[in-house]
Amino acid sequence: MRLLRLGDLRPAPADPATFTGAAQVTRMPAVAEEPAVNAYRVAFEPRARTAWHAHSGLQLLVVLSGRCRVQREGEPVQVAAVGDVVSIAAGERHWHGAGPDGPMVHLAINVDSATTWFGKVSEPEYEGD
Ligand code: MN
Repeated sequence: MRLLRLGDLRPAPADPATFTGAAQVTRMPAVAEEPAVNAYRVAFEPRARTAWHAHSGLQLLVVLSGRCRVQREGEPVQVAAVGDVVSIAAGERHWHGAGPDGPMVHLAINVDSATTWFGKVSEPEYEGD
């Protein structure tokens, strides 16, 4: 057993090349090695979101606070609440971020997974238009 303490880790600003708006990412690397699991606590300001992207393996999102907007390409924008879990399969193009009315924090758990980034999420896409 190993306990990763959040207080021992330092948040860093999200890469503006792959995020819209302000977000702070706390990397929790090598949560496990077999399979390889990496976790990221991401705190988004209102309207902040990732760019479109896909993972080569499973990603789970656990909403820790606020309301999380999430969308799989070709499907409507959905809203996940605190305690909800979003399961994103390998290869699914998607994005995730905060709703317009407040900040949001989620834990992203990537299992044996690398990320490929695509374009930014436009305002109409964010709004679900
Ligand atoms: Mn993702």
